[in-house]
Amino acid sequence: MTRAVGAQPDPRRAIPGVDRIIERPWCRRLIESGGRAWITARLRSVLDDVRSGRLPVPDSDEGYAELLRREVARAETPSLQGVINATGVILHTNLGRAPLAVEARRAMAGAAGYGNVEFDLATGERGSRYDHCVTLVRELTGARDAVAVNNGAGAVALALTAFSAGKGVLVSHGELVEIGGGFRIPEVVEAAGARLVTVGTTNRTRRADYARAVAGGGVGAILKVHRSNFSMSGFTEETELAELVELGAEAGVPVIHDLGSGLLVSSAALGLPDEPVPADSVSAGVDLVAFSGDKLLGGPQAGILAGTKEAVARAKSHPLCRALRCDKVTLAGLEATLSLYRDPARALEQVPALRMIAAPVEELERRALAVREKVGDLRAGRKGGGLVAEVERGESLVGGGTFPDARLPTVILRVRAGAATDRWLASLRAHKPPVVARGRQGWILLDFRTITPGEEVIVAGALAELGAAGEAGS
Ligand SMILES: *Cc1c(COP(=O)(O)O)cnc(C)c1O
Repeated sequence: MTRAVGAQPDPRRAIPGVDRIIERPWCRRLIESGGRAWITARLRSVLDDVRSGRLPVPDSDEGYAELLRREVARAETPSLQGVINATGVILHTNLGRAPLAVEARRAMAGAAGYGNVEFDLATGERGSRYDHCVTLVRELTGARDAVAVNNGAGAVALALTAFSAGKGVLVSHGELVEIGGGFRIPEVVEAAGARLVTVGTTNRTRRADYARAVAGGGVGAILKVHRSNFSMSGFTEETELAELVELGAEAGVPVIHDLGSGLLVSSAALGLPDEPVPADSVSAGVDLVAFSGDKLLGGPQAGILAGTKEAVARAKSHPLCRALRCDKVTLAGLEATLSLYRDPARALEQVPALRMIAAPVEELERRALAVREKVGDLRAGRKGGGLVAEVERGESLVGGGTFPDARLPTVILRVRAGAATDRWLASLRAHKPPVVARGRQGWILLDFRTITPGEEVIVAGALAELGAAGEAGS
């Protein structure tokens, strides 16, 4: 290292070594709680950062103690944390889709130890993990049998693999959907070892199109895919499920319905446009219907296949089923969530995703105003002692690739942040628990449709810290 004559000595030369710091009483106390190897590694990382200039050189022993404590706290923060969703997107895929009902959380905690996953408590003999949610799914869909697997995509892949590996799968041109995250129908068909046979056109597919393709032979299944995340209008025509079932029965070809969302109450009860439910597919006579556990069903990540005894048995006996099976904690959460639907009114109140969809704006407004009172100037839009916060109307999305056209009226608390918007959003994300909000033109937007009742205090606390931290540009 070279140094110009007369320049200050490089402060980095005075950085103490690990051996010296590790003997300090404050460091010993950290080692007592964190363990020697772990704390030493954290200390090394701090000293590396100081040497390389990523951290400023502390000018005191206490400065090093502070840096190390911060590094330990950072490293001990779990990678996966619960967050407050202030984005207004109810089934936010990046935030874990459906928030679970209290009953489901309790059941999952209860199943986390030993559980009778594959054990029959009545006989004391071996049981099947696939039995747990079956009675409820049968009751709620009218299907004769069902099996739950890891997720919706897995359920579709399992159905296709079990029925059409080495054969053709008929799909309407208008249903070659990408669900998101790499789940594209043509690729799923290919991954199932089947051959994609597209029928009809993008906007119109008739029964005769399917009939012609079936007549071609070598068909393993007819797959109907619900357009859950986009809509089509204008000169369109699609073949009804019942017509496909009729055709399938004549030709001896099973019909599989990829429904997606798994809504188990009527969409009218949620004030949303018509959306098919699994019971509709079952009563139309499909062999299997596939739907997700963590979309509008509001449960843990899972995929459910419901249908005829024969079709479910065929899916269950395929080796892929074992690879896609649910763990005990998921099964417990799914069962508890499904139980809430025995009484649809109860489900609307206790399944958080449904409750959020149905929450009246007046309630959201009351909660937003309560937070504004805590953090801001009561005279809306005028700068007072606290933050400048206003309550406004907006629109939320259901999300999770469902109800693409639906906009739910909502209430947004907007906080003026000016040039500090990005920094403040980052501070909210660094809060414990993190608050995930959106920014727009110098304002931070908090949508109360997805903030769970009871979380207002935490949101207000996180905002108050921003206020205390200082200035908002304008
Ligand atoms: C969401 C969806 C899937 C995939 O379900 P995951 O639970 O996300 O795996 C498959 N098909 C349709 C139509 C969907 O909407």
